[in-house]
Amino acid sequence: MKKFFIQTFGCQMNVYDSQRIINMLESYGMQQTDKIQDADIIILNTCAVREKATNKVFSALGRIKQSKKPTALFGIIGCVAREAGETAFKRIPDLNFVLGPQSYHKLPLILSNPDAKLLNIDLGGLEKFDELPQVEKSPALAYIPIQEGCNHCCTYCIVPYTRGRELSRPFKDVVKDVIQAANTGAVEICFLGQNVNGYKYIDSDGKVYKLSDLIKEAAKQDNIKRIRFTSSYPTEMTDDLINMFKTEPKLLPFLNMPIQSGSMSVLKRMNRPYDLNQYIDIVDKLKAARPDIQISSDFIVGFPGETEDDFEDTMKIAEKIKYINSYSFKYSPRPHTAAALMEDQIPEAMKKQRLAKLDSYLNELQRQFNESCIGKTLECLCEGLDKTGKHLIYRTPYMQQCVVNKPAEITWPILARIDITEANKASLRGTFSK
Ligand code: SF4
Repeated sequence: MKKFFIQTFGCQMNVYDSQRIINMLESYGMQQTDKIQDADIIILNTCAVREKATNKVFSALGRIKQSKKPTALFGIIGCVAREAGETAFKRIPDLNFVLGPQSYHKLPLILSNPDAKLLNIDLGGLEKFDELPQVEKSPALAYIPIQEGCNHCCTYCIVPYTRGRELSRPFKDVVKDVIQAANTGAVEICFLGQNVNGYKYIDSDGKVYKLSDLIKEAAKQDNIKRIRFTSSYPTEMTDDLINMFKTEPKLLPFLNMPIQSGSMSVLKRMNRPYDLNQYIDIVDKLKAARPDIQISSDFIVGFPGETEDDFEDTMKIAEKIKYINSYSFKYSPRPHTAAALMEDQIPEAMKKQRLAKLDSYLNELQRQFNESCIGKTLECLCEGLDKTGKHLIYRTPYMQQCVVNKPAEITWPILARIDITEANKASLRGTFSK
């Protein structure tokens, strides 16, 4: 039996794409392996959001070339593939395939023609969803992409180049995926998209469907107990969507809503045209709709021209909103983006210093929130055993990891009410509620 190896870098969308590739290759009678030396085909599913991530991919390809079987095919798919295109073959001449995020369903072509160099980085829209085989069995947490690409054109972001303009999948196709997931093991649905709350599909009768309509449909499925979505753009948090947090109890009380910076002038240069009052207003509305909601954010520090005062404004907004589970990064210039050409690039040492300060504060906020959960009972979704095999890892409604001792029984609940007994910055501990 032929074997394949796949490694995934980057965002949840890539995790989803890799899962579909696994399904597809299994439908060709292949078996997944975690050993590169055993694989007949080696796939890196890549991320181009940061320069470091791109470099990592090419270093990994160099190492793979040394350790793979001489006959094994290897290549890249995803955003680095789209960014590098033909130049990837120049950097690694033995490479067999380079497939963009919207053309990875063409991968089997290399199986039937292993001597060819397969290159396809077209932004072919959403046709891949029609060509991929149906998922037979869903994990408890099913990721369902509802749109791809982005129209926002933030000046630092390569996504509009690698994933293209925003396209929303037909409403009925997404609902079909939700029903399929619900009927084959899913308990939680996470709707995915680069700009997920910008989802908008107009059918042939002119009827407009939004993310709130998808949430309502998913909630109708008895087997689905938890619903969430990521990643959201602040000004696309429309009232109908905010209202979902009030009317739909299956929607988790947690939202990742990246602000990126707390400085108005930096936001302007980032081409994120919302003002802070508008953002705070949205958070207030969300809290009014669902008082227990918590917000997380992504931050970029050291954006070109960011002054010390701009950075302090970012610290202030973090303090005001009291974000939990946030991600912060140093600005990294990417090709095809306007910010890479801006003057006043910030020196690396300063970026590093600011990132350390912000990270330390965000970690403190997370620790405080985690500690505030002690004594509470939270309904959590099981992710499986930890590496020792002695503990179960559950995920709270706020995406915290919660560790529970494995019970003596062979099976354990997928969804469980857990009494939280301990907390630190990184995780919680708890016991099954009686
Ligand atoms: S909204 Fe997000 S995906 Fe779209 S351009 Fe901005 S950062 Fe990139």
